[in-house]
Amino acid sequence: MNELLSSLIVCPDCKKPFSIKEQNLWRCASDGREVRIHEGRPVFTPMPETAHVYERVERGPDQGTPWRQANWKFLQEQAQGQDKDALILDVGAGHGDFAQIFSGRKYLSVDVVPYPEVDLACDFGDCIPFKENTFDMLVLMNVLEHVYHFHELLDALLYLLKPGGSLVMAVPFMIKVHQAPFDFQRYTHYSLEKMARQHGFEVTLLEGYYDPIFFLGEATRNLRFWVLPKLPRLSRWLGRGLLILIEGLVSLLKPIIGDGFVKSPGDAKNPAAIGYHLVFSKPSHSLSSGRG
Ligand SMILES: [Zn+2]
Repeated sequence: MNELLSSLIVCPDCKKPFSIKEQNLWRCASDGREVRIHEGRPVFTPMPETAHVYERVERGPDQGTPWRQANWKFLQEQAQGQDKDALILDVGAGHGDFAQIFSGRKYLSVDVVPYPEVDLACDFGDCIPFKENTFDMLVLMNVLEHVYHFHELLDALLYLLKPGGSLVMAVPFMIKVHQAPFDFQRYTHYSLEKMARQHGFEVTLLEGYYDPIFFLGEATRNLRFWVLPKLPRLSRWLGRGLLILIEGLVSLLKPIIGDGFVKSPGDAKNPAAIGYHLVFSKPSHSLSSGRG
């Protein structure tokens, strides 16, 4: 098991270290709580029966959609702003899309699904196998929309953060339904700000990523891959011809409108953000939440 993880992990019920450690099972001596160790990783939450294990997609600063590339740049800047000894937890890390940004750092990753790349599998809505005020930085990239009980998650994240620590998030807005059926929400920036305050965070940063050409592209790709294939043959061919024309016009529009950009939602003339980048901070005077 990851050494850093084994030094931090505790019984979710009594918050004492697991003292009985067999090869595939750890047990808490105080209350008998057990955790299964699967391929060297603690699995606290049984894998949801309906959960899909998504295939790994190569990620990097120049890979994926413009939104993904903007996510990468934002997260890299946030990581660089952290102390080199900062303790970082990537929540809902999946296949470790952003792990490369944290190479050489004190970095752990968790997901509800025991992906081979994560250090532990746990649903923080069910249990929290860490002590309060443990992490300096929490990462929640394109995860919030997939969590139905997001209030429980935000409570858990506040609990896990050290006072003064940051929760760094990306949340999509004008992005189609993805990872169906586990896609539950789109939030406006008003909702995200309200959510932060309700859960005891301060909003340190809130930016929109705007990209009208990518937005148009989402619509034309929707036509190409989902709408046209279902039309009768003649309409399909006619539609394809017109779509090629539209895509040609969009590519002429691109040099006029320009690439995507980041702006505070209040300053943007365009209400259709592709998504939001946020930093929520735990106030340094934050009182114990009383959980655990
Ligand atoms: Zn215990």
